[in-house]
Amino acid sequence: MPVIYHPQKYKLEDRPLENFIDSNEIWDILKQNENPSLERVREVIAKSLDKNRLTMEETAVLINANSPEMIQEIKDGARELKERVYGKRIVLFAPLYIGNLCVNNCAYCGFRTDNKNQKRTTLLPAEVEEEVKMLEDAGHKRLILVFGEHPKYNPQFIAGTVRNVYKVKHGNGEIRRVNINAAPLDVEGFRVVKDAGIGTYQVFQETYNRDAYLKVHLGGKKRDYHWRITALDRAQEAGIDDVGIGALLGLYDWRFEVMGLLRHVNHFEAVYNVGPHTISFPRIKPASGFNVKPEFDVSDEEFTRLVAILRLAVPYTGLILTAREPAHIRDEVLEFGVSQIDGGTNIEMKGYSAHKKEQDLDQEQFSIGDNRTLNEVMDELLGHAYLPSFCTACYRLKRTGEHFMEFSVPGFIKRFCQPNAMLTMAEYLEDYAPKETREKGYKLIEENLKEYKDEQFKEKLIDRLERVKQGERDLYF
Ligand code: SAM
Ligand code: SF4
Repeated sequence: MPVIYHPQKYKLEDRPLENFIDSNEIWDILKQNENPSLERVREVIAKSLDKNRLTMEETAVLINANSPEMIQEIKDGARELKERVYGKRIVLFAPLYIGNLCVNNCAYCGFRTDNKNQKRTTLLPAEVEEEVKMLEDAGHKRLILVFGEHPKYNPQFIAGTVRNVYKVKHGNGEIRRVNINAAPLDVEGFRVVKDAGIGTYQVFQETYNRDAYLKVHLGGKKRDYHWRITALDRAQEAGIDDVGIGALLGLYDWRFEVMGLLRHVNHFEAVYNVGPHTISFPRIKPASGFNVKPEFDVSDEEFTRLVAILRLAVPYTGLILTAREPAHIRDEVLEFGVSQIDGGTNIEMKGYSAHKKEQDLDQEQFSIGDNRTLNEVMDELLGHAYLPSFCTACYRLKRTGEHFMEFSVPGFIKRFCQPNAMLTMAEYLEDYAPKETREKGYKLIEENLKEYKDEQFKEKLIDRLERVKQGERDLYF
């Protein structure tokens, strides 16, 4: 069994942290839980619906549940959990690529150093501002900045870019939360970036299997599995407790990766007392000079199933789904508990200000499956009675661990998340939405208001919605 290392007892350098991922242990647990009975599968789903996080063994039961009937019950369970716990809110964000210089050689990525077709650029501060203006004009309030790995993208550069983004205010627009997806840093580097006021720092392990990892990470610092798997421990050490983990699906067996993600969650909970804020599970897409079917290709059927399993396994962790996936897959898995999606996505360098719809893979990382505008995504969400949210209140009020609170504090969602979703949506409807979306949006707000039985609170909320209509901005609970 892997050992849990406690930070008070061990200095970071002395801790063989990566030992928390033990391939044999993962395969053993998967094997020991093969061919579960329907009764056992139901027991596990019921435990999750009772608001308990699942163990590795229980998650293995769901992974091994292969009959159509069992799979259907897992999906129904995830849907029920999502509705019971989180309601119909979906948080929206957009990625902003800052630079595609990269010293690493990840076989699947258009930015890999060996890819001579990639046109390399790093946005100048004025170009970043231009992109941010475009994103604000579309209605965005949350961004994730994405970087290749390069000495130029040092902590000071990343921190400077974050500060620059927060400074841009266009019309009623502003960015209220900046997340980061960039290379692992050392503890000091993470401190520098934290001080710029970031939200989440994401580092995806890509694959939790060491052999598969070495097979595709062909050169550069990223080849060092240990440096990468310990990245977010260093972030924690630097005081960033809001971290995002992820696996790039297609590099190894998805069953193993789901268990690896769960083991990573366990590790954070055991050592730091707080799990990761979010989990991402991108599937490999074609990229410049990379157009082969991944060795462990994950089918649509497996993908939707694994999202449902993750929802049940870690009921209080945010699940992120990006525009890598086409609209129909996004719509399907939203039901199973995805909590955040991007909208109006353009991953070409300087792509938002260029207003180009077709992709040029020689200027971007991979091909995307959903190039709808933010308003098209909003419209679709509203059509399915989802409540799109641009809320950033928890982060700004230092209520970290918001997903955990949503899950465990009775009434938290009704009292904070849902009203804030309505208030930020009203801002969107006032400032950016065409007439039709505006009408749809306000109709949905009306319907959501009917659910409030506490008349005093309802009045307060109606008052704030009215103030948004009158031009006030940034009101939240
Ligand atoms: N360069 C940093 C790194 O590798 O961690 C920052 C992020 S990288 C630009 C963002 C993520 O994109 C990677 O962690 C990887 O999971 C994903 N990615 C890379 N190539 C991809 C592809 N062809 N299809 C889908 N996702 C891909
Ligand atoms: Fe560079 Fe990241 Fe792409 Fe690897 S995944 S080549 S590190 S940008």
